[in-house]
Amino acid sequence: MTDLLSEARTGFEERFGYAPGGIWSAPGRVNLIGEHTDYNEGFVLPFAIDRRTFAALALRDDGLVRVASSLEDEAVEVGLTDASPAVVKGWAAYPVGVAWGLGKVGADLAGLPGFDVYFASDVPLGAGLSSSAAIESALAIALNEVWRLGFDGARLVEAAHLAENDFVGAPTGILDQSASLLSREGAALFIDCRDGSSEPVDLALEASDLAILVIDTKVKHEHVSGGYAARRASCELAARELGVAALRDVTIEQLLEARDRLDDETFRRARHIVTEDQRVLDTVETLRTDGPTAIGDLMFASHRSMRDDFEISTPELDLAVEIALNYGALGARMTGGGFGGSAIALTPVSMLTQVQVAVDSAFSEHGYTMPEMFVVRPSQGARRDK
Ligand code: ADP
Ligand code: MG
Repeated sequence: MTDLLSEARTGFEERFGYAPGGIWSAPGRVNLIGEHTDYNEGFVLPFAIDRRTFAALALRDDGLVRVASSLEDEAVEVGLTDASPAVVKGWAAYPVGVAWGLGKVGADLAGLPGFDVYFASDVPLGAGLSSSAAIESALAIALNEVWRLGFDGARLVEAAHLAENDFVGAPTGILDQSASLLSREGAALFIDCRDGSSEPVDLALEASDLAILVIDTKVKHEHVSGGYAARRASCELAARELGVAALRDVTIEQLLEARDRLDDETFRRARHIVTEDQRVLDTVETLRTDGPTAIGDLMFASHRSMRDDFEISTPELDLAVEIALNYGALGARMTGGGFGGSAIALTPVSMLTQVQVAVDSAFSEHGYTMPEMFVVRPSQGARRDK
């Protein structure tokens, strides 16, 4: 953590030739349960992880924005008020999009100074751990402070979400940005994606001798195009056919009654969303009454639903989940948007090594790329570090 802090500072100094005015950071996240429910105005339960993106930043006296990152060779310069999705492409669209998004939610960009920012991060890119929300949130909280915007967390979520949806062009929901900006240490964040309200739910993993193991399958996904947008379109079609604003408004009984109004694929897509919403509510309730040891079945039910009904899993993710469960995990599921990325396994601390060894050897037997595995701890959301 401290290393990244100095990496951000040094990186800034080397790139821009002077010292940053401050350093802020924001975490990646895993979603404990509630996948693809966010844009259906339903429920999600992510937590921020102990991997962060640091933003070393200083204001300029002109209107220029310069962005650079330890993870990308290309640095980008653009005028603050000239920034548009047509002009800025590639990774720089995430940070530049945040400045633009803050303008969309009320900042007067024409009256504000430009900035230089350098990012250093240990959130793996494109692994389903939301490096995108981490970079957006780190910059959003930094600009909120140095531009003296005084926006609350919900408004920053909106700005970062606009950046990803309308500037980058990835039609994702508010889950990632909410988790990265609003999470509390030791807790998951229960979010109602209809009104954006959220509340922390204690995870108490350590007290139960449990850990969340991330299994990054190294299979890259591409949210901007392809499957994610197609799933979203299916959900919108189902909602339209069922005459509701969003699938959030449908109960499982109503869905079953309306089965013949939907083609089989659309029905299964909708069934994932409707049952997943219920699983999130059940998980919150179970955490509060029985604690984390009791949520394993809900996690695996969620995985099956994503594998069979929503069809966003991969053979690598299915194998990781199956092996983790066979070798001691209480629950396991793919996490994130799908089509690759990571699985999580709720594992007794005493079984962690056994699970990792078993997953490694299964991947090797199947000839898959070797996965990367690490424990994540529920951590604090975006903050100023220096
Ligand atoms: P995920 O959010 O699951 O990691 P995304 O495809 O949503 O995957 O976002 C990953 C993209 O975000 C990267 O390809 C890159 O363009 C951008 N990005 C995220 N973090 C950084 C960073 N620290 N430096 C540069 N670009 C970043
Ligand atoms: Mg992302």
